[in-house]
Amino acid sequence: MRMSESQNQATILSVGLSQRQEEEIQAILGPESSLERHPFAGAGKQSGSHSPLMALISWRGVHGRINALVRDGLQQEESLPRVLILDAEVAQADLERVIDAGFTAVLRYPLDPERVQRLVRQLQDSQGMYKDLYHMAQEICLEREILSRQADLLQFFNKILTNASFSLDPVEILHQAHQDLQILLPVKSVDAIFWQADKEHRLEAELFIHEYSGKIMQDKMIAFLLQSAVKHADEAIDNYHVNFMSRMEGAGELQEVTSEAVLVLPLRFGGKSFGCISIASEKISRLGRDRLQTILAAVNHLALALRNALLFREMRTRADRDALTRLPNRHFFDERMIQELKRHQRYRIPLTLMIMDLDHFKRVNDTYGHQAGDMVLQEIGRLLQEMLRSSDLAARFGGEEFVMLLSHTTEEQAWFLAERLRIAIAKRRFHYKGKFFKVTASIGIASLETGLFARDVDLFAQADAALYRAKAGGRNMVCLAGEVEGEEECRQYA
Ligand code: GH3
Ligand code: MG
Ligand code: MG
Repeated sequence: MRMSESQNQATILSVGLSQRQEEEIQAILGPESSLERHPFAGAGKQSGSHSPLMALISWRGVHGRINALVRDGLQQEESLPRVLILDAEVAQADLERVIDAGFTAVLRYPLDPERVQRLVRQLQDSQGMYKDLYHMAQEICLEREILSRQADLLQFFNKILTNASFSLDPVEILHQAHQDLQILLPVKSVDAIFWQADKEHRLEAELFIHEYSGKIMQDKMIAFLLQSAVKHADEAIDNYHVNFMSRMEGAGELQEVTSEAVLVLPLRFGGKSFGCISIASEKISRLGRDRLQTILAAVNHLALALRNALLFREMRTRADRDALTRLPNRHFFDERMIQELKRHQRYRIPLTLMIMDLDHFKRVNDTYGHQAGDMVLQEIGRLLQEMLRSSDLAARFGGEEFVMLLSHTTEEQAWFLAERLRIAIAKRRFHYKGKFFKVTASIGIASLETGLFARDVDLFAQADAALYRAKAGGRNMVCLAGEVEGEEECRQYA
């Protein structure tokens, strides 16, 4: 076939050969090789797509200029084998000089066709070997590059596997993932959204996002993650809560929240998605397949770690909270009380404790049933959460008794709050199975004020004593554990 002929055809350059000599050599070489005249002055590019096999240089044609040619032209093509055609008498010394200049072979006139052909074959063999070696070297370079990429991937994967299981805190896991991902690409942030159905089967989402420097960017990220959640959960999100995470040191600023700059991957457990993780990086669109697949595998592992962390948190919350009202329980309150007392002693921050007991609650149960009583307790729990600051703690101490720990709050401030609370409860109309009824509460307050040295006071006993006085004083009343005993310390709703 012509095409393969031309592909296999060896190009041989002729330098200084006469036309007759060229024709003679071409006849010896046959159609397998083609002789091309090479203008050595300004030598550089040759015709043809592949490199020439050799240059045939005539002694006669370039007589006297051979050294200049070798120096100026041929030296630019070091790898090109040069064959001297001796077509004239040459002094031995001249010949040696020329051969020293780097000629591969010398062909004498009259030419021996067999020798010429043998030379061509030898050069073809060595050119083939050279090409093979060149390709091998290229392949080795490529493999080294692939190996080094794979080493990166392995290192990253190893880090993710090791680090993700170290913590049971979702924020720490996300921060660590951010750091580990830096091995593969320059990451700006790693954020996440998780969702789960509440008791009424409404989908609640919880977001963990970085504190982006601008609120606009924060809002964009929140909207983006909510959108992704709806896509992956295949349901509308009814409610969401955002946790802000501190920014990673050195993480660049995110310019835009688009699918080109933010990679969102679902977090799955047991065949179901429970969240999404988002990786923001300008290099997302240039991620190779191998890197993307490694990230996918890593995210599967992260999903497990995050799932464990969320379960752990839920279990802890359950252990710390009262099942009926969802308020913190007595155990949680006791621990917090110890911390707050320490803080008060150390920083002299005023601290107030309120104990609230529902009045004649037994009657509520007896009249409307235990379930009606439960409903009241739940509503009171919600009311406490609504009326208290987030820094305050309201807990269910047991039965129909609630405690409130208010730091940075004086006795007087607490008294106003307690009164508002007492009045709000007394005014509320509870409704259960078609029946309306009212409930009242008594509250006892005790405080540790600023500037007081840590007297050995039992805050709880004082508040309890105040509560006892409120009960004894007629209930639906707030009493202070003041030093002066008297009517003015207790207030009753008129
Ligand atoms: P007082 O005004 O003196 O506090 O009277 P009281 O009836 O509230 O006080 P008592 O201690 O005699 O009764 C408390 C009642 O609270 C008894 C119990 O049935 C009820 N109770 C305690 N825990 C729960 C609960 O979880 N659910 C319901 N429905 N009732 C509870
Ligand atoms: Mg009680
Ligand atoms: Mg009671």
